[in-house]
Amino acid sequence: MERPPETPVAPPTPVEMTPSAEELAAIAEREAEAERAARAAEREALLPGCDASPEDIDGYANGRIPQSALCALPSGDLLRADAAYAFAALNAAYREATGNDLCIGNTYRSYSQQVALHAEKPSMTAEPGTSNHGWGTAVDLCGGAERFGTATYRWLSANAPDYGWVNPDWAQAGGSRPEPWHWEFEGSE
Ligand SMILES: [Zn+2]
Repeated sequence: MERPPETPVAPPTPVEMTPSAEELAAIAEREAEAERAARAAEREALLPGCDASPEDIDGYANGRIPQSALCALPSGDLLRADAAYAFAALNAAYREATGNDLCIGNTYRSYSQQVALHAEKPSMTAEPGTSNHGWGTAVDLCGGAERFGTATYRWLSANAPDYGWVNPDWAQAGGSRPEPWHWEFEGSE
């Protein structure tokens, strides 16, 4: 018996699948979760062992923040979590450019440290309890950053703002208290 010529079979019409609001929410949640995980991995690579969040300092007074609410840089110096990540990224850029790590003199300062320092150098330090060092958002740098116009200072001026770190107006040459070494974290990611 002769077979009838094969007729092409039309592919089945795809059924239009409109995801429900619930499915859309689940997709968005999965995407957000994946993004959080990627971000966490990126941060862990940048600053291993830092599991605090910037909000962890909420509720504490200046200079009275427990170590567990801050993040330690590889040097052991403490900063608020977002400032620490940004500083680690800035340091990586500096290392890439110069082969060296940034020289850190001072970061978080407890209230009692601020009192002691202010007693020692009243004109050069903030009133205890008002310093950004007490919030873990300021660093004092060394290794050339002690003076305006050095290669280190110039590099920082050109690059640190990209990472949210600035030498505030009052600390700039011509400011009310020139401190080329003092940098504050102003950015937020
Ligand atoms: Zn300072």
